[in-house]
Amino acid sequence: MKYYDIVIIGGGPAGLAAAVAARKNGAESILILERDKELGGILNQCIHNGFGLHTFQEELTGPEYAARFITQVKELQIEYRLHTMVMDISSDKIVTAMNREEGMFQIQAKAVILAMGCRERSRGALNIPGYRPAGIFSAGTAQRLVNIEGYLPGRKVVILGSGDIGLIMARRMTLEGAEVQVVAELMPYSGGLKRNIVQCLDDFGIPLKLSHTVVDIKGKERVEGITLAEVDEKGKPIPGTEEEYECDTLLLSVGLIPENELSRGMGVDLNPITSGPKVNESLETSLEGVFACGNVLHVHDLVDFVSEEAAAAGRNAADYICHHKTSDEIQDRCLQQNTIQLSTENGIRYTVPSEIRMEYMPEELTVRFRVGGVYKNCYISCYFDGERILHRRRPVVAPGEMEQIKLTREQLAKYPLLEKITLKIEEA
Ligand SMILES: Cc1cc2nc3c(=O)[nH]c(=O)nc-3n(C[C@H](O)[C@H](O)[C@H](O)COP(=O)(O)OP(=O)(O)OC[C@H]3O[C@@H](n4cnc5c(N)ncnc54)[C@H](O)[C@@H]3O)c2cc1C
Repeated sequence: MKYYDIVIIGGGPAGLAAAVAARKNGAESILILERDKELGGILNQCIHNGFGLHTFQEELTGPEYAARFITQVKELQIEYRLHTMVMDISSDKIVTAMNREEGMFQIQAKAVILAMGCRERSRGALNIPGYRPAGIFSAGTAQRLVNIEGYLPGRKVVILGSGDIGLIMARRMTLEGAEVQVVAELMPYSGGLKRNIVQCLDDFGIPLKLSHTVVDIKGKERVEGITLAEVDEKGKPIPGTEEEYECDTLLLSVGLIPENELSRGMGVDLNPITSGPKVNESLETSLEGVFACGNVLHVHDLVDFVSEEAAAAGRNAADYICHHKTSDEIQDRCLQQNTIQLSTENGIRYTVPSEIRMEYMPEELTVRFRVGGVYKNCYISCYFDGERILHRRRPVVAPGEMEQIKLTREQLAKYPLLEKITLKIEEA
């Protein structure tokens, strides 16, 4: 058995930023475990620019953004193992992993940071009728094939789903000489960032068909075409609205799912809305000393927010091992002070974190959330029990863009009996 203070699962932007922050906050023995052949996570295949505007006030490509953190990890002499797959984590933080050199091995960690990212939803989750011909890819797989492996998956393309990866791949395939005929989206709004709709579709004249879905895939060996139909408010295809498209490739960009098999296996409580762990103000899960950050916690739109959130998880994990408190101590202290629950109403789907222990509240806490639909000219409001303490006007909010508010310790300290913080959307 090997021993480390902090073991980080995943060497993507979340794992890297968490490791750097943990080291800078006093943690000596840190190990990052990454199953891929290099650090950087999904950023390695995102060769477009648009990363780092918040963190570095520069427009970087994905690999450039990752490199900034990889350099810091190396300068700070943080240990990492590549080609190393974590198979299991026990509730008492024994990490079981495997690689070619060491075979199966175990590590006892004092704290664990979950940073495994997310995966794409596949065709199987959609129930599209038709055979299973070649030529159907998830947008992320196509991105990897084009940007890393050097293959063009097809020449005549239809994209289902207008999440950011689908939008970015519409532009990428066009730049590589393919003809992207249409991007179809089931919902009446796009799931991607506004800037990606403009830069990846509008600039290239690619139509976006909202409230449309693929109802049939033609071709036995290879995709030969698809049928698109308009859908009603319940997402059901409207008969008579079918349109045929000839194509050899269908790309699916129909959602991301946090990669939480390990978290579930170790007994971490998951939030059914985000499919990520439920966390408190310290980004600590229901298991003491187990923290989560990045896309494994909830799917982010911008990597800058991943890095910011992961740095907080790293600091908190360092604090946890440097000032290690026993469960009894923690429970005693929590009993002395109320835990404040964060709840959502009217259009807001979830918050991260979902509870705040005043004892551990930092000077300033970022609460991130997403809305469930498109709301124009609305207010984002925050209530402390019955009292409204924030009423921020927004011209438009949409599910594709993550929102945030900041709470301060000083603000909360004025309400010693506070039990519930509620976030909601209110009409203007
Ligand atoms: C196609 C695409 C385009 C994007 N475009 C932009 C953009 O333009 N601008 C922007 O700001 N953001 C963009 N993003 C978002 C940004 O890339 C992500 O938010 C960010 O990469 C998430 O970081 P992460 O570390 O949580 O996850 P990831 O980057 O997915 O890293 C997770 C890591 O964990 C590893 N891992 C998982 N399970 C295990 C295990 N069991 N054992 C060992 N290792 C494991 C994985 O191999 C991976 O390296 C884009 C994302 C995608 C997918």
